[in-house]
Amino acid sequence: MLAADRYQRIVELIDENGSVLVSDLVAEFGVSRMTINRDLDHLAGIGSLTRVHGGAMSAVETGDPRSRHCLMCGTETGGRTAMTLFHEGGTQSQACCPHCGLMLVSEHADVTAALAQDFIGGQMVSIRAATFLVAPDVTVCCVPTVLCFEERDDADRFSRGFGGTLMTWEEAQADVRDHMTLTKEGTEV
Ligand SMILES: [Zn+2]
Ligand SMILES: [Zn+2]
Repeated sequence: MLAADRYQRIVELIDENGSVLVSDLVAEFGVSRMTINRDLDHLAGIGSLTRVHGGAMSAVETGDPRSRHCLMCGTETGGRTAMTLFHEGGTQSQACCPHCGLMLVSEHADVTAALAQDFIGGQMVSIRAATFLVAPDVTVCCVPTVLCFEERDDADRFSRGFGGTLMTWEEAQADVRDHMTLTKEGTEV
């Protein structure tokens, strides 16, 4: 199991339970306590969680604010739209919203996994399991706005009020690629 996969699972477990124990993670992943402690230190370093004795809990907003800026546009992250991207080699980066997250993933081939914040509940969800609402009639963070929902029903309800198109991450990525191509063609005319 790659470190990035463990990071993602650890963050998911904390979102589900509020906290995790090192001993539980050792049992879950079958790796050493040292590896788990290193994982937790790493995630604490980027503000994804807060270390406590013997484990970790949901992030307390005390992290270095400089580590919480969008790699794409420099906006401070941490709102209802933040994303965490995991790169090969175990480094992470932040995006202010799925709009910037989509741009980053299309520019960085080494992104192995990513989490996005559910727009309703604020919990981090794997982008592979989430539904994205592309270009609704409201502007939240960047334009065109892209919002993440853990439940497709929530995204559906939101779109009935505010428009936009429901997409999986893959569909949204393809849309960004198309859009970028169109923009380029438009400029050439
Ligand atoms: Zn951004
Ligand atoms: Zn943004």
